Order: sequence, then C-alpha cells, then structure tokens
Amino acid sequence: MTEFEDQSGDRSKSSAFRRLPPVHAVMARPELAEAIEAKGREVVVAAIRAVLEEARTAIALGHDSTALEGEDAIIRRVVDRLDQDRPVLRSVINATGVLLHTGLGRAPLAIEASEAVARVASGYSNLEFDLDQGTRGKRSSGVSALLRRLTGAEAAAVVNNNAGATMIALRALANGREVIVSRGQLVEIGGSYRLPEVFESSGARLREVGTTNKTRLSDYERAIGPETAAILRVHPSNYKIVGFTESVGIADLAKLGRSKGLLTIDDIGSGALGPDRPPGIVGEPTVEEAIAAGVDLVLCSGDKLLGGPQCGLLIGSAEVVRRIERDPMMRALRVDKMTLAALETTLRLAIDPEKASRSIPLWRSLSVPVEQLSGRADRLADRLRQMLGLSVSSEPSQAYLGGGSAPDEAIASACVRIDPPLPGRELGATEASRALRMGAPSVVCRVQQGSLWFDLRAVPEHDDEAIFRAIEAVVRG
Ligand SMILES: *Cc1c(COP(=O)(O)O)cnc(C)c1O
Repeated sequence: MTEFEDQSGDRSKSSAFRRLPPVHAVMARPELAEAIEAKGREVVVAAIRAVLEEARTAIALGHDSTALEGEDAIIRRVVDRLDQDRPVLRSVINATGVLLHTGLGRAPLAIEASEAVARVASGYSNLEFDLDQGTRGKRSSGVSALLRRLTGAEAAAVVNNNAGATMIALRALANGREVIVSRGQLVEIGGSYRLPEVFESSGARLREVGTTNKTRLSDYERAIGPETAAILRVHPSNYKIVGFTESVGIADLAKLGRSKGLLTIDDIGSGALGPDRPPGIVGEPTVEEAIAAGVDLVLCSGDKLLGGPQCGLLIGSAEVVRRIERDPMMRALRVDKMTLAALETTLRLAIDPEKASRSIPLWRSLSVPVEQLSGRADRLADRLRQMLGLSVSSEPSQAYLGGGSAPDEAIASACVRIDPPLPGRELGATEASRALRMGAPSVVCRVQQGSLWFDLRAVPEHDDEAIFRAIEAVVRG
C-alpha cells in the first residue's frame, strides 16, 4: 500500500485522507459478508485496497474527492468492483418456466457429466489415443459405441451442433445435387438457423415439394429425377401446422427412398434417445423409431431432450456415416474432449431410465409433481410477504420445454407472482427484473402484465432460498 505524503500542507487534503476508513473496518461491513464467503477474504481485501488507493490518488491530485470518502462511499465502490470481477458468462437461476431456454444455455448437465468434464479438462486424456494398442485412436469411439447400443444403428458421429450435422450431411451426401423437402418443413430455429440458408452454404440444392399445409407421397415421387440425392424430413420443432393438413410419415419416405435408390435423412431436432422419454414427453420423434423405420441417417441435438452438452448427433448406416466422416468439413466441426466427456456420461445415464430420472436435471425438473411445486411457491410467497412486506401470491402456471421442442405442450407448474412496486426502493417490474438479473446470483424471471413471475419448474428446490435472498437484496437495495 502506498501512502501519499501530504506535502502541500493543505489541511483539507489531510482531513480527506483521515476520512478514508481502514481496511479492517470496511471488511467488517455486512454488505461484504457474501462476497467474502463466495470469493474469499484475499480477493475482497485486494478490492478494498485498490479502491482506497484510487481514493488516495484522487485526494493527492487535488481532485474533488468528497464523493470517494467515507465508509459508505468506499463500500459502494468495493461492491461495484467485485461485481465487475464477476465472469461475463455466469450461472443464473432460470425462473422463466422455459426448461430448454436457448438464451440460458439449454439443458443443464448432470453432476456426473460435469464431473467427467472437469476430470478430462484439467489433465491429459486418451482423446485420440488407443490405450490398448498404444496407437492413434478415434476421438468419438466411446460415444459412437454408446449411440449404436442406444439406437440400434450401425454407426454414429458427433459434431458441434445439429446445424453443423445438417450442414455436413448435406455437403457430404448431396453436394451439387438435389434434396427434396416438404414446404411444411422449411424451419427457422432461433433466427440464425434457416433451412434454406443451411442448404445454400452446404452446396446441396433444396427441392421444395407440396404446400405449407399438405404434402403427399406423390409430391415427393414426382420430384425425383436424375439430380436427386436424398429426401430430407425436418421435424417442425417450434411450430405446428394444424387444421387441413397432411404429411408423409418417415416409414413411407424411407420406403420410397429405398425403392428409388435415394438416401433418406431425418432431422428429428430434439433427439429423444434411449429406452425411455423424459417424464411427460409424448409425441416427440425418437432416434430409434427413425432407425427402425429404415432411414439412412438421423440428425439431432445433444442439448435438448437428451439433456447433454451442445452437440449434433449423426446416427445411421455405416456407409453413410463413413462418407460424412471422410468430409474435410468434419475437422472444422469436430467436438472437443469436454463435450465428449459430458456426452459419454449423459449417454451412459440415458441407458438406464432409473438413473436418467435421478441424474439428468431436465428429467428431474419434469418429474416433480405439480403439487410439490405449488407447495414451494406457497412457502416462498409467505416468506416474501412476511419478511419483506411484498405484495405477492402463489399461482398455478404453465411451463414449456422450449429450445425448439414441443411448442404447444404446456407443462403444469407453479409460480410466485410479485406485484410491484417493490417496497423500499419502489422499483417497478422492469427495473426490479433488471436488478434481479444483475444480482448475485442472477435470477431470470418473467415480466407479464406488469408483474414479476417466478416459475419453479426449472428451479431446483435448493435454489428457492437463493431466489428469496436475491429478492431480499433487491428490496433492501
Ligand atoms: C434445434 C433444431 C436444430 C438446430 O439444432 P442446434 O443443435 O441448435 O444447432 C435443427 N433442426 C431442428 C429440427 C431443430 O429442432
């Protein structure tokens, strides 16, 4: 710590120096208790020293430093500084009621999976090394074997995400040729993924057939010509065409493809995998069904219904997967050791529905009975009312899978609803929700009809306390 001499003899300067609190006094303030626990004493002491140093510099330079002096001002600056030290990418509590929220990182990993990530990340691993033979190995051999076992397919490969899987499949299997897609299936997933644009960059030509609401087998048949390489079905993950509709089932498409010597590719999107579905999930296509129906290649995401890391899975015939793996683009889309560790562990859990429902957070969230959620919402609302004097109620609500899965399947849930203004700082809904997002921990809720809604479907029970404390921190400023 540098001490500035008050050489000017200026009395106001020396009194300004004297007003600066000592480090131990700042350390003892309750505002810093949480930071000390979370970050350790040394980090907080360093922040206090840095803030005091800044204040001394300002005083020595004769700047107007009254705003910097006194314990309260110092505390505010220390808290700000510690806040800025927080990583930009940080964990949040998801009280939106959208379970696979793409903005919030989609599926949380099972503890087992994140432990596996930590193990391979912090040391060396046999990523591309065959321990048995002592020779070069294949990076995806472990997950390929599990995917074959789980789906009954001959082969499987993994890339960065499902967009990448679609891109490389089209490129490797249909470059310069036509792929037939129904007009009812030209999806956009979250803005940057639009199927026609994926086609453009893959080098395959999109051949649209049918209409938005009706596509028949005869539409596909008529479009087949010497330029045709494949038929692609895309699961309309985030929308539904209802009413006067018709589409062709995957088994019929696979049969047509086989009879004409064409490949059939099925982009099922969400990727339900394994002997069981997450609780309450019905009607989503599964990899096994597509393989059993005879398609050559199934594409899906790893971080949707499977509840694993972000990745794209390509599962199908040995010949087709081999062609994809030989494509130079494979190198550009390959996944790293951390993704593979998380995926392998998640697939092992998915083999046993018992383990999956105990360990995979998405499965756990879906399996909580709604009565349990409303009990938690009641208790949280009571505490908020009694301890903080909020205008608050516990309400039934509807949660959704999100992430481009089952768009209209509402999942029964429960909410805590707070009606602003929040007492204390008299914050409205928008300011209060911002304060909650920026707090530690960060809480993301819904703002609806001028109220704050905290949906508990995606909140693990042990985080109820953290939500209470986050709201308390906002109310108490
Ligand atoms: C989600 C989805 C994608 C994109 O998958 P990412 O893993 O996000 O790249 C592509 N197709 C369908 C049908 C989807 O549901």
